[in-house]
Amino acid sequence: MEQQTHNGAGDLARFRTRCVTFLTENAGDEPGAGVEDPRGSVAMAEARAFQAELFDAGLAGLAYPVEYGGQGLTAEHEAIWREEAARFPRMTAMLGISQGMCLPMLNEYGTVEQRAAYQAKVIRGDEVWCQMFSEPGAGSDVASLQSRAVRDGDEWLLNGQKVWTTSAHLCDRGIVIARTDPDQPKHRGITMFIIDMNAPGVEIRPIHQIDGGMRFNEVFFTDVRIPVDHQIGPLNEGWRLATAMLMYERVAIGTGQKGGVLHERTDKLIDEARLRDRIEDPLIRQRLMELYAAEVCQSLMAMRTRAEAEAGKTPGPGGSLGKLAGSRIAAAYRDLSLAIVGPAAAAWVVTGSDAEAAESVDPAAGDGRSGGGVWAKEALTTFSSGIAGGTNEIQRNIIGERVLGLPREPSVDKDLPFRDLVVGTQSG
Ligand SMILES: Cc1cc2nc3c(=O)[nH]c(=O)nc-3n(C[C@H](O)[C@H](O)[C@H](O)COP(=O)(O)OP(=O)(O)OC[C@H]3O[C@@H](n4cnc5c(N)ncnc54)[C@H](O)[C@@H]3O)c2cc1C
Repeated sequence: MEQQTHNGAGDLARFRTRCVTFLTENAGDEPGAGVEDPRGSVAMAEARAFQAELFDAGLAGLAYPVEYGGQGLTAEHEAIWREEAARFPRMTAMLGISQGMCLPMLNEYGTVEQRAAYQAKVIRGDEVWCQMFSEPGAGSDVASLQSRAVRDGDEWLLNGQKVWTTSAHLCDRGIVIARTDPDQPKHRGITMFIIDMNAPGVEIRPIHQIDGGMRFNEVFFTDVRIPVDHQIGPLNEGWRLATAMLMYERVAIGTGQKGGVLHERTDKLIDEARLRDRIEDPLIRQRLMELYAAEVCQSLMAMRTRAEAEAGKTPGPGGSLGKLAGSRIAAAYRDLSLAIVGPAAAAWVVTGSDAEAAESVDPAAGDGRSGGGVWAKEALTTFSSGIAGGTNEIQRNIIGERVLGLPREPSVDKDLPFRDLVVGTQSG
């Protein structure tokens, strides 16, 4: 009766030992570290390989059902894994969208056939999935999306464009939302589908980022055929599912892949401040304490969110708290790192490779202090955290309206047929 022993203290202790042994033997440098990898292909290949090792060791998809490739374990096992993994490099960060957003959607809303076909592959990292919501005219207000899916016999025909699709070029499949009934109001005529990223008519173009990477994309659809059995959830109810997926996204971003009480960013800056003789500076110390307090609070918030998930609660608007806290911490970390490192942090040329940035050493220091390249790159990357997964302003709106119960923002278009609205390139 294996199931009955799952939550026993002995079982959990043995499980923890298994996690530690596996991580000690298999977790190396973070995938892609130290190599020139602007498109993330090296990092993705290494993350997939690590995920396959995890799967083969019985440590992937811990809380998912055994019949769909999971381990059928409990949320407590999941929490233990996170706690232990927190002490190692982030080996599967590249799989965050696939594992943290697409997989729970497939598990919760996929049909039996969809789950049988794909869930184990996604858990093992044999397939990686992306999220295609944002469009040029529909980001914060994603319900204004214009991509159209029109029924054609046993298939849907998809036309339109998505933007900012993280890792689209490295993914096998994606979850896409498209308009299926423009006569309904904008939130109602949307449907969610699974699409094959290698299907004819899918064209992926890279977007060049300020930090030198090219990890997200524009994705164009021209008469892409989607089999009808690749629809997720009911027809024209894609908005409800998209909202659920965004909540998984905010929880995934806000709680991260690690567990426990963390203050990694503060620790890193304390080390740097010591190396640069800035640790006695009272203003730097004060800011380090503020960052420490913020990181600890975010960890505690993440623990609460996970405890709610353990109790069987589907992610709700509260996930926005962790997401917003994370982006505020990223901004504080950026500003403080630049204050500690000083002018060296601005000395990096954006076109430099990841490898150059990682290996650069501050020439004035001569004692192994990391060069400005690392900090410049990190500083530029932090800007995305206040945008990805919904901007800070949108998180504040969600917290205000749906957590605190404040009056909702005025909305003039929610009952009008989408076809009559002036959005994106549509003139109404
Ligand atoms: C690193 C990164 C990865 C991403 N990956 C993906 C992905 O994989 N898939 C995907 O679909 N999308 C992805 N996105 C897109 C992301 O979801 C959008 O950028 C985000 O939702 C904001 O939309 P927008 O860029 O169109 O900005 P806009 O919506 O045009 O917003 C512009 C500004 O107006 C403000 N604003 C808008 N509406 C309001 C309002 N009602 N109240 C107050 N202020 C408002 C915003 O806060 C922002 O400051 C990614 C973005 C980033 C940065």
